[in-house]
Order: sequence, then C-alpha cells, then structure tokens
Amino acid sequence: MSALLAGACTSLPPPPQPAYAAAPPCSTPAATIAFDFEGASQSRCIIKGEREFTILVGPEHAPPINPSAWYAFRYDIDQGDDVTVSLEYLAGSHRYPPKLQASGKSVRIDAEVSENRNRASFDIPPGSGRVSGQEIFASERYSQMFNQLRRYSFVDIEVIGHSLGGRPIDAVRMGRPSAPNLIVLLGRAHPPEVSGAVAMEAFLDELALLYAGGDIDADNVQILAVPLLNPDGVARGHWRANLGGIDLNRDWGNFSQPETRAVGEWLDRLEPAVSPIAMIDFHSTRRNLFYVQGPDETDARQEQFLNEWLGQMLVSVDGYPFTIERRNANPGSGTSKNWFHSKYGIPAYTYEVGDNSDRMTILSAARTFAGLLPPAVSKSLLDKPPPRSR
Ligand SMILES: [Zn+2]
Repeated sequence: MSALLAGACTSLPPPPQPAYAAAPPCSTPAATIAFDFEGASQSRCIIKGEREFTILVGPEHAPPINPSAWYAFRYDIDQGDDVTVSLEYLAGSHRYPPKLQASGKSVRIDAEVSENRNRASFDIPPGSGRVSGQEIFASERYSQMFNQLRRYSFVDIEVIGHSLGGRPIDAVRMGRPSAPNLIVLLGRAHPPEVSGAVAMEAFLDELALLYAGGDIDADNVQILAVPLLNPDGVARGHWRANLGGIDLNRDWGNFSQPETRAVGEWLDRLEPAVSPIAMIDFHSTRRNLFYVQGPDETDARQEQFLNEWLGQMLVSVDGYPFTIERRNANPGSGTSKNWFHSKYGIPAYTYEVGDNSDRMTILSAARTFAGLLPPAVSKSLLDKPPPRSR
C-alpha cells in the first residue's frame, strides 16, 4: 500500500468489506500452484525449486476451536518429473489425507507426515488438477443436488436469506407448508466437513423417494433442509467460521449472523399449527457417531424416538459402525443441537460422519437412516396418526 493511501485511511470512513482475493499463485517454468477457485484455501505458497513448493496452511481466524486444517489448491505441471509439495501448518495439524482430483477422478495420495503432524509432503504427477483435504463439494454440487430434488412436485427450493457475503441461503422444502409436523435438517456449518455433506445429500434424496412412495405423508410431515448453511466459508476455504469470523454452530440463540438468523426467522414465521418435531445437523469428525441429548434432558417420548430410529448402541448399518453419544446441553453454548432441544423440547441430534469413512458406505448408511426415520417419527413423535383419507 502506498504512503498516500495509508495516510488517507485515517481520515476516511472504514472501507466496505474487501472483495475476496485469492492468495497469489506460485509459478516456475515447470509448474504453477494456484488458489483461484471456489473452495480453494487461503494459503500462501513458497517456491522451493522448479518442481518443489511449500504451502503455508493456516485458519481464517484464530484461535481455531476445532482445527479442521483445510487446504485446497490447483496445479498445472509440465511433462517431466513429479512435483513435490509440502504442507506446512501454521496452526492445527495435518488432519485430511490429500485427495487428487484430475480427469474427473478423485484419488487419495500418500503423504509423508512429520511426527508432530505439522508438516505433510507428497508428490504430484505432471498434468492439471486439484489437491484438497477432502473432495471439493461446493456450490456446483449443491446446484446439482437441488436440480435432482426439483424434479419432485412436492419439493420446493427456496432462498430463505443471504450470507454475510451476499450468497443465497437455499432451503429444500418437502411436504405441504401446512403440514403440522416439521423436521429441520442442517448441513455444512463447518466448511471442511465434506463427509457430512455426502451423507446429507443421500439422506435428502432418500427422503424425497419416501415422500414419492407415500411413506411420508406430505400433508402431515414437512421438512426444512438447509444443506449449505455457510456458503461463504465453503467458497473461501475456511476451516470453521463464516465470513464474520463466527462459528455458526455457536450462534444459535444469539443469531448474530445472517446465516443462522435466516433459519431462526423462517421458524418464527411458521403457521401456529406447525411445530418442529426433530432436528438433525450434519457434521464430520474423526469417526461415525450421533450426539444426542444427555440422560437428564430427555423424556420417554424422545427416548422412544432414539430407540426406534437408531436402535441400540453399537449397532452397525451395512458396515458403517457408529456410536450414540449422550451429551447434556451446555447452556448457552449456541449449538444447533442445544438450541433446538431447549427451544422446542424435541430430539435434536448431531449426525457426525467420519472424515475418512468410505464414501459409498456413507451413502448407503445415510439412505438406511433416512428410511428408518419415518416409522420412528410416526411411532414416537406424531400426536395423531397421519390423516387417512385424501
Ligand atoms: Zn462440525
């Protein structure tokens, strides 16, 4: 910045939110590393040699609450030897094994990880592609998801608000707006949690099939699903926060951010006869599990629902081992789980998918869980049976 501009800043009102600019690329005669696409990380690269680069990986804000050290870059490598890339973590540590996406395929590549896990190195063959901590799952994939779901007459895709960066907050609506029982589904508060997004995509598709087949009565049960709660964070390759530097899963009840507020205000506008009966928020962690209400905060009805839906602990669905973890609310923590439970007295669960769980198994397990949901809801959460005649 020039001295003139720097001086001028003190006498002018604060500038508008700066436009997002990708970190500059690194180029040598043999290779280019760049961060100029949706989902790319805000990393810096350093040229170590014609075919050797270091990428400095850091969070968008500090300190990170839960270090999900996201990285994603694009490469263009001329014929010849492989290029060596070292990820150097400025905070957190290596969590996601690198996935290389080239020619329409995604493959995991072997990395050599230092003992303290703050450095990981790997080789990339000549050609063009992307390397990222998880597969890129951004607005294009969500658009495809929405287009698939739009084929059904009982599905509406609505914009319920906008992110701080002005991106739409899309909601998938199933069932009639007058249906008295509402199930709320949330996803992607945390940008790197792609395995949870993979599960949610299949879960929603299966629910649509269940409506289509009459297994869910559109007059009695409706769904509000917000699969991409943090579109700015996903687009900008954040580890955790939205553009305001806030963890959206600590903002429920506070509603200081437009993303959570969009959902809160939508709920405030519900017809008086409609009430939420369950909430499921899709996330990722190191293994498959469901966080559910603690033993002191449930009632017989919620326990029945838990038992009907997820069965006994240590049950395995199609090679998808998972656990059920009961956690009492930490009042005021601002998680969706605690807020929905305390506000509506309903089962409110966090559906955590393992970072490295096999993607095909995630899909089949998500479909199984979706299939088990309507009977569990009918048996334990609906006051009245669905209307018989139409
Ligand atoms: Zn999360």
